[in-house]
Amino acid sequence: NDVLRLQGIGKTYNPGTPAAVPVLSDLDLSIGRGEVVALVAPSGAGKSTLLHIAGLLDTPDEGQVVLQGRDLTGASDRLRTQARRRELGFVYQFHHLLPEFSALENVVLPQLANGTPAGAARTRARSLLARVGLTEREAHRPAAMSGGEQQRVAFCRALANAPALMLADEPTGNLDPGTADQVFDLLMNVVRETGLSALIATHNMELAGRMDRVVRLG
Ligand code: ADP
Ligand code: ADP
Repeated sequence: NDVLRLQGIGKTYNPGTPAAVPVLSDLDLSIGRGEVVALVAPSGAGKSTLLHIAGLLDTPDEGQVVLQGRDLTGASDRLRTQARRRELGFVYQFHHLLPEFSALENVVLPQLANGTPAGAARTRARSLLARVGLTEREAHRPAAMSGGEQQRVAFCRALANAPALMLADEPTGNLDPGTADQVFDLLMNVVRETGLSALIATHNMELAGRMDRVVRLG
């Protein structure tokens, strides 16, 4: 009943050339339903590579990527894109919100792209924003919000299509320590309430210790 299973993953950049960079080898990682896993890795250890493979953005040279019981390793781009949109949510260190759109619109748009009717998309976006305390910010554009608020919106956007798994790369890495702590608490509350599974890369050992399990690379 794992949400994600990575089995025997191997990845080398520029294989078979003098510039070959072996990054991952025989890596196994499973994430159970509702499990929140911290990914801790020194710079250069392959954290981004692993997140890209788990996020169906890159393919491994060896091994399998099984998402909710389906082996998507050799699946077509179309199937992988569909799985990415419906089953995965991404949060990055920088918010990557659309600057011309309000907080509400930023959470509505991925739902429209996924075929959700506009009314239902707005209702869900409002409910997500309310859960992270942003009801008063619905109409604000990203530039009019604080860093912590921007990351809370980005988190709502990641959850907009009710993914099974959230992949986060240093989601609070751009925030000052106090704000990072608050945003992380909010994020974890919503993750727990919704039973979402997550793989969260962080350099912050205190935050890693608050997750269910810590996986180390390198
Ligand atoms: P991290 O996110 O842990 O810093 P990455 O997964 O980005 O690590 O990279 C792991 C290693 O692979 C690094 O040595 C990096 O320089 C190398 N690397 C990453 N992407 C490429 C690429 N496209 N071509 C060649 N080497 C790469
Ligand atoms: P869409 O076309 O609906 O914007 P994509 O299928 O391109 O979505 O991407 C789905 C998810 O994957 C998005 O949340 C997007 O942020 C993320 N994504 C796409 N390309 C990359 C990339 N090169 N690196 C990291 N994340 C990406």
